[in-house]
Amino acid sequence: MDERTKADVDELIARAAKDLVKSEYAIALTGAGISTESGVPDFRGPSGVWTKNPEAERRAYQGYQNFINDPKAWWLERLASRASGPLGNLEEVNPNAGHRALVSLESMGILRCVITQNVDGLHEKAGTRNLLEFHGNFRKLRCIRCESRFGRGEFDLNALAREGRLPPTCPRCGGIVKTDSVAFGEPIPQYVMRRSLIEAERCDLILICGTSAVVYPFASLPRVARQSAMNSSHPLTIVEVNAEPTALTYDGISDYLIRGKTGEVLPKVAELAVGLTV
Ligand code: NAD
Ligand code: ZN
Repeated sequence: MDERTKADVDELIARAAKDLVKSEYAIALTGAGISTESGVPDFRGPSGVWTKNPEAERRAYQGYQNFINDPKAWWLERLASRASGPLGNLEEVNPNAGHRALVSLESMGILRCVITQNVDGLHEKAGTRNLLEFHGNFRKLRCIRCESRFGRGEFDLNALAREGRLPPTCPRCGGIVKTDSVAFGEPIPQYVMRRSLIEAERCDLILICGTSAVVYPFASLPRVARQSAMNSSHPLTIVEVNAEPTALTYDGISDYLIRGKTGEVLPKVAELAVGLTV
């Protein structure tokens, strides 16, 4: 990065810290980019899983339809495959400085909620308290009827497979149980959708971290927030922290983009915010 660009980035970091401290109800929206520095690949960045292997993207779109057509076969295939999936072994990864900076902002009472698209559980592991996992969590299972979520350990999946009792069923309503991670083509669970819309409509600042903002309906949240702020004439600042510009940058949905790594930018923002509040 040349000196001029670095000065511009530093200026925007200072601006974001001020905007956060001034805000009354800030939220963060995060995507795969915030976890790349923990060693989890994203999908569409330069080294993304799909950038390197477009066939994997085509396959991903069929997953949910296969589940609906034959949940038993879907579960059997899943249990038989020993591969850890396109994101690697998520049990072994740890939060990075970007996740921790969001925890600091939350504990300062500035950040009120984190809504993430990530399924890696790293915000929870870092200690974020008010968290909405828009696309679920790889460690959990979910009933597709009543939306109850369960730890994987609550079902003995291998025993169910041996006894021919797959798919697992919900102890509360008898509905079919699936992995919690939301597949392409699968509706967002209503509870998380409703809560996310409420957060988007009420916030006055959004910190968008590491998302290409092309996956809908998640990518509509900043747009909903913009519309709602316009309708009710309340102030709204949208800040992006991303390695590259996104549709939100080009469409003028965000006020400014801090171009850089979330693991480097967010800790600086949080540190400056601490300085401004003491
Ligand atoms: P994406 O891959 O479409 O976009 C990631 C964006 O982050 C890109 O613009 C990239 O340039 C940027 N980026 C990468 N590393 C960065 C860094 N260190 N700092 C700043 N920016 C960085 O990701 P998405 O928008 O989240 O959409 C992918 C979908 O796939 C999500 O909906 C999610 O459910 C799923 N996914 C999840 C994980 C995970 O749980 N960690 C990983 C990959 C994909
Ligand atoms: Zn149920």
